[in-house]
Amino acid sequence: MATDLTDKSIAERDRVIEEIATRLGVRAERGKRFAELTSLRVGGAIDWVIAPQTEEAAAAIVYELDQAGIGWRPLGSGSNVLADDADHHYVVLNLSNMKGEVHIDGELVSVSAGYSLPRLCIDVARAGLSGIEGLGGIPGTVGGALWMNAGAYGHEIGTVTENVRVARDGKVVEIPGETIEWNYRRTSFREGELLLGARLRLKHDDPEQIKSGMDDAKSRRLATQPHGARSAGCFFKNPPASTIGTGKIIDEMGMKGQRRGSAIVSPVHANFIVTEGENARAEDALALAEEIRERVRREQGIELEYEVELWRANTENTDEHGSADADERG
Ligand SMILES: Cc1cc2nc3c(=O)[nH]c(=O)nc-3n(C[C@H](O)[C@H](O)[C@H](O)COP(=O)(O)OP(=O)(O)OC[C@H]3O[C@@H](n4cnc5c(N)ncnc54)[C@H](O)[C@@H]3O)c2cc1C
Repeated sequence: MATDLTDKSIAERDRVIEEIATRLGVRAERGKRFAELTSLRVGGAIDWVIAPQTEEAAAAIVYELDQAGIGWRPLGSGSNVLADDADHHYVVLNLSNMKGEVHIDGELVSVSAGYSLPRLCIDVARAGLSGIEGLGGIPGTVGGALWMNAGAYGHEIGTVTENVRVARDGKVVEIPGETIEWNYRRTSFREGELLLGARLRLKHDDPEQIKSGMDDAKSRRLATQPHGARSAGCFFKNPPASTIGTGKIIDEMGMKGQRRGSAIVSPVHANFIVTEGENARAEDALALAEEIRERVRREQGIELEYEVELWRANTENTDEHGSADADERG
């Protein structure tokens, strides 16, 4: 994300944004907060939120913003983002309206990045296609899932992705899935890469079998995770060298239910931080997360890595994923 406010007055930047949005016929709004756009329901004001509805419009918008030197950042459903409480002086490209339609052709499924991942899992299960039933309970968009190679219960989106459509020079361009590195909650997509859609290769299977796989994943999730709570899923990755998961490590330290202001370690799953109250603060969630990391470091000698992305208002991005700091994200 390039932020170029030193060279441009905010008023001039705003004028350019309005002009681009009007010319391309895309909705651009002011006055939104991350607290409205993320599942943790915290985070400060955003200068502009632009919400394209088609892949072509999204590609055109980011090209124009880049040409004008205006910083932007893509957001899906905000279910893996903790944005801090300060004012964020950049454009958030809200992709959750870029839903398009799912096209199924035999075992190939084409979908836009703004489409809901849980919805897609239901659609393909109905069509008797297997390969993503474990992902059915992961909130968020297809784009967010591709970005961090979302996965659960033996399925990861990267393993079934035949190609990804990205924005290049204002156009929609396809890149083959095998040229992308799909790792544990991490991919080789780079900052400034906007994902527009994907074609997945699934497999025909017995619809009853697929449904039972989805039901199984759903009941395991319901039994082990808080539902109806404001969270971003697992806060930390599982440590690669440990035989036990992060949730169990935190639980065994007796931290379930621990509170910092409006943030609490979920009593149901210790790797979930949940927020409470109308005026919940990112600062509380972050302080609690750092307290957990500090104790795990001290008592277990393990350095926990964030799975949730921390979006700082005032930090220039250095990470290849476009998140705040390379050592701060999962
Ligand atoms: C209750 C709960 C349970 C969860 N369980 C799981 C789980 O089991 N497994 C799992 O993997 N995750 C899980 N998550 C985390 C989250 O749901 C996933 O990471 C999801 O894929 C994020 O999608 P999103 O649309 O909300 O992305 P966002 O949170 O909006 O964005 C996440 C990242 O993706 C980038 N991004 C989003 N869309 C695009 C795009 N089109 N182009 C470029 N970059 C983009 C954003 O810039 C950001 O860096 C859970 C979250 C919750 C709240």
